[in-house]
Amino acid sequence: MLEDSSNQTHFGIKARWIYTANDHQELLHNHTVFIKNGSIDKVAPSALSNQSNIIDLGESILTPGLINMHTHSAMTFLKGIADDQKLTDWLEQSIWPNEAKFLNHDLVFEASQLACLEMISSGVTTFNDMYFYPEATAKAAIKIGLRANIGLLFIDLKTNYASDFTDYFDKGFAFRDNFRDESLITTSLAPHAPYTVSDESFKKIRTYADQLGLNIHCHLHETEWEINESLKKFGIRPIDRLHRLGILGPDFMGVHCVHLNESDLRLIDSNQINIISCPSSNLKLASGIPPINLMIDKAKFVTVGTDGSASNNKLSVLDDLRLFSLLQRNDRNEPKFLKSEDLMDMVTIDAAKSLDLDSIIGSIEVGKKADLVAFDLSNIFTQPVYDPLSSLIYSGSRDSVQHVWVDGQLKFKNKQLVNVDDAESVIEKVKLWQNKIQ
Ligand SMILES: [Zn+2]
Repeated sequence: MLEDSSNQTHFGIKARWIYTANDHQELLHNHTVFIKNGSIDKVAPSALSNQSNIIDLGESILTPGLINMHTHSAMTFLKGIADDQKLTDWLEQSIWPNEAKFLNHDLVFEASQLACLEMISSGVTTFNDMYFYPEATAKAAIKIGLRANIGLLFIDLKTNYASDFTDYFDKGFAFRDNFRDESLITTSLAPHAPYTVSDESFKKIRTYADQLGLNIHCHLHETEWEINESLKKFGIRPIDRLHRLGILGPDFMGVHCVHLNESDLRLIDSNQINIISCPSSNLKLASGIPPINLMIDKAKFVTVGTDGSASNNKLSVLDDLRLFSLLQRNDRNEPKFLKSEDLMDMVTIDAAKSLDLDSIIGSIEVGKKADLVAFDLSNIFTQPVYDPLSSLIYSGSRDSVQHVWVDGQLKFKNKQLVNVDDAESVIEKVKLWQNKIQ
């Protein structure tokens, strides 16, 4: 059993396997990671370590904390409310009416906490979010103790949160200023999608991105409907429109990219955008199957997200990674195209690079934050283990998550949440919202 390291500032984690996600994609055997004041201080062979405060993980693999590259964490309050609808019906008949009726700061704060608890329990230590009331999501992440890149959402619609472009960004930038010193929180600009944001608004967002050095996080080419609407309204495909508006570039993170033709792929290549794939959400909403092999050949980085709970309905990036790999094989008829190391990099170091956070997270290297996950490979689901990363991705699941550390603090211990205030009351509060919504 694991001793509680939560109050210790100096300790070691001894693992049979450590996947570092470093430039050499090193898998270390029988090594110990030493943590000092929340950061990785040293990585050394366990045989050479005779210090105290060593946590022995036994038959587990230690990896960098997983990064969920796209979610709307507060949407846990709508988990399962409209499970059998296509995206346009789902948005127009269920999601937007319920948001219009109920959405406020408290709901976002309480539902985001539930999402954070689910993500920690699924091995996620950082999430990339986009939703209304960004300060409420940031507060939830800090309260639970998760790292978050919070999108300053903009949509050309009057909502409970804000009325117009100026109002959205006055509130967004006020939040950004207030949370500037919070070490767990970073921000990006989050125009919702080409079909909900005008040309004029996109141009202003590009100016903000350049002035402030912020990334842009935006849904893109999720459905054929989106592309057809753009062709009708603007005479060009959404990605071409964004290209002409100057929105695309290495600081752009396009979510989904399910429907791509040759000219779309050329724009992805020439602009070196990042793509975030959410395969469970795409399949559940019957949006289509993303052409993973084509996007991997062209994008700067391809990473993986869960999307929100209303369209997945699991915030388990490991499960989406497995699906991503299986879909890609169908595309290319080539099982070796993506190795297990490449897949793990997509939800660790490549994700950190897409977010410009790779100097502090994404790999197990000296000087980086101790955002770490131990996955148990000793049980009937994963034994025998010939290749630990392959066992984790193809035989494991979020049930394999054994321990999770964020900033060196233990948040999940022996498959239970720890050091989280009021975890029990979070579910009760979301249930109260459910009673109002039904
Ligand atoms: Zn989304």
